[in-house]
Amino acid sequence: MSKLRHFQLGDMLMHESKSSRWKVETDSTRRWWLTLSHPSTGFDPRKHLSGFESRDEVLERKKALIRILLTGEDHHHRLGTTLGICETGSRCGLSICPFCMRRFRSGFLIPEVCAQIARWQECTGESGVAVSVVPAKLKLAAGELHQLDLPKMLDAFRQRLRRAGYGGYISINGVDLSFNESSEGKWASHWQPHFYAVVLSANEPKQVKAELGKFFPADESVRVPVHVKRLNDPMRPVSYLWKPFFQRRVSYIATNGRLAARKLPLRPDQVREVALFFGEKAPTERLLFTGIRRRGQHLVEM
Ligand SMILES: [Zn+2]
Repeated sequence: MSKLRHFQLGDMLMHESKSSRWKVETDSTRRWWLTLSHPSTGFDPRKHLSGFESRDEVLERKKALIRILLTGEDHHHRLGTTLGICETGSRCGLSICPFCMRRFRSGFLIPEVCAQIARWQECTGESGVAVSVVPAKLKLAAGELHQLDLPKMLDAFRQRLRRAGYGGYISINGVDLSFNESSEGKWASHWQPHFYAVVLSANEPKQVKAELGKFFPADESVRVPVHVKRLNDPMRPVSYLWKPFFQRRVSYIATNGRLAARKLPLRPDQVREVALFFGEKAPTERLLFTGIRRRGQHLVEM
């Protein structure tokens, strides 16, 4: 980042800090993901993960996001402007920036997590499990996403992992978010935070599901709060741990009478709300590691 660029961004963030609830980061040295270049492990998801977002897709998503932000209020407008001047050699580092977050995922998260999994699988001969968990009680109405306390949510998840007997295992847990609607109007539309996780345990998926399931009750909008699969092909589940965009999930009754859901793009006001919420946060604020920690641009065992 050039000095000029840094000061512009710093000024903008300091200005925001006076008037808003944003967590403000003015120290560019803490934006370590800006310095990522090539995957450290030699495994490059851009080449080896089928369906990994192409540069063209990222460019289209960035343009669409900027368009929506520029039609919002002043604080949205400022985010849109910052995104607009993000370019090669002078990246913005915002965790909603499709380019910067493609780099975060391909240069750090996916190769580092895959390397941890490969090491563990080689040592143990086991697979590990991929988990998705929806804490049904944790819902937020439209316009109230700013009330989501990410550290508290992650800490509660850590406690539940521990109480379920998985506190001592290596796990990588990422927060995802969807805006959930019922086409039959069975419940009020809401933001639903949830987790994707990889747990390096030799236990059977059925056992993990039973042990974790005790802490995540179902409700009308979340019929099956916990899914667990064997981690046979880690790349895909790992790419889901931290998704660079969010969706609307619309539930409906399928022709066979069962509850189904279709995924649709967020509406513009929802895009603006989620961009404001995640925009200034570090991408790692959506992650929880157990048994490992980040040291610089690497994950190391504790
Ligand atoms: Zn950027």
